[in-house]
Amino acid sequence: MRVLAVGAHPDDLELLCAGTLAKYASLGHHVTMCHAGLGDKGHFHIPNDELSAIRRKEALNSAEQIGAESVCLGLPDCEMFVDRPTLVLFMDMIRTAEPDVIITHSPTDYMPDHRVVSQLIFDASFHSTLPNFKTGVPANKQVTPVYYMDTIAGVDFAPTEYVDVTEHLAKKNEMMLCHQSQVVWLKEHDNLDVLELIDTSAEFRGLQCGVPHAEAFTQAYRWTRLRAERMLP
Ligand SMILES: [Zn+2]
Repeated sequence: MRVLAVGAHPDDLELLCAGTLAKYASLGHHVTMCHAGLGDKGHFHIPNDELSAIRRKEALNSAEQIGAESVCLGLPDCEMFVDRPTLVLFMDMIRTAEPDVIITHSPTDYMPDHRVVSQLIFDASFHSTLPNFKTGVPANKQVTPVYYMDTIAGVDFAPTEYVDVTEHLAKKNEMMLCHQSQVVWLKEHDNLDVLELIDTSAEFRGLQCGVPHAEAFTQAYRWTRLRAERMLP
């Protein structure tokens, strides 16, 4: 399978679904990790340009841990909108990735950029199948199933699907640690220990489905996006 995971910022996938991505990769599936935003506003002291460059390196490094492809759409943080140019940008990214399954933010997420990306993925993965919506990249053949990853601390998220990530939690932590700038920022700005959050969330979701550690998802339960076989690993 070709798996496309799309987060708003360079560390979102690591925080919310990296165990599942590591599992996909270990099973031999092709994984593309895309961050829509530059990650240019997530720091107290480092200027935007400098921070974007640091965070791009962190994302590449993290993707490398599981042999995934890393893509950045180059949007400034907190300046992401559902408009035509951004929709086309997302369409081209999806058309190029040719995914069998897409994972992205939940529409119930707390962060405005996350919610915008969730909407853009839903819209663009439909429009990307229309050959007459010409963008310069050939249209996809089918509307891709979309899964929404957990929210931070599971707030307003009632999972319908679980992935056992017990054997991939160490890899998830390694990937998160590639984002050193954010480990520091999240502690300073949100008083959040990310590794603790990853561990507690995985244990809690595991408790719900009878395994030591799990990640949780919901599905975009919409016509043309459903499949007879299970798409999550
Ligand atoms: Zn984010």
